[in-house]
Amino acid sequence: MPDRYFVDEPISGDRVILTGAEAHHLIHVMRAAPGLQVVLFDGGGDEFHAVVDRTGRSDVHLSILSRERIDRELPLSLTIGVALPKGDRQKWLVEKAAELGVGRIVPLQTRRAVARPNEQTLKRLRRAVVEASKQCGRNRLMQIDEPESWPDFVEKTAGELNRLLAHPRSATETAGATSSRSCHFNNQDQEPNTRYLLAVGPEGGFVDEETAMALAAGWRAVDLGPRILRVETAAMLLAAMVIQQHQTL
Ligand code: SAM
Repeated sequence: MPDRYFVDEPISGDRVILTGAEAHHLIHVMRAAPGLQVVLFDGGGDEFHAVVDRTGRSDVHLSILSRERIDRELPLSLTIGVALPKGDRQKWLVEKAAELGVGRIVPLQTRRAVARPNEQTLKRLRRAVVEASKQCGRNRLMQIDEPESWPDFVEKTAGELNRLLAHPRSATETAGATSSRSCHFNNQDQEPNTRYLLAVGPEGGFVDEETAMALAAGWRAVDLGPRILRVETAAMLLAAMVIQQHQTL
């Protein structure tokens, strides 16, 4: 795949000026010179072939040669609500979710959540989405929402059909919640629609009250096996299981 550069606003005419990190990469890493051909995308779904006209100190002027709609999205809409882990593991989660084709990440504030992402963190994670999209060829950006509390998330998503809560069987048994036992993923009782909401708890797990709230609202608990997975592993496994069920990998 040729080098791809992200343009932070919709491309409409036949000229583009790249600035910021993308221009920096072209000028200082790629040593771009007039005549170099690159691929641009603006997150709207199209891919643009372009040629460098000239480079400035911190900007690159390009002409658009062609525009093509290239769809590398999943044929299903996947949203993951997740209590983000700390540090580099946040970035790993976001990067892999973007690669897998997840449409949206909602950082969840739960009782035991360890990370409280601020604007700077969200900006850094959104930049990680751009980098992952450049690398994997996605022409639409995975969205990262503002953080939302678990009760708000559960309430707002009440009308959705396919809501899957990653919840270890052992945790459910400990809570004595026999009526809300986790079960292995089984596609036979899934609704025939292509919108999925997934939820993954923090390192310390959901508290019983949070689990009960979701189950009462119609979320289905999914056990991912006898090993306790880290947040980011659980999120990627559950996403991959849903994707694989739709045979769209
Ligand atoms: N002691 C915590 C508990 O029992 O919930 C472990 C939390 S785990 C490190 C973080 C999150 O990943 C959990 O809240 C759950 O959403 C998900 N998770 C981890 N392992 C899982 C498994 N085997 N089955 C289902 N979900 C799992």
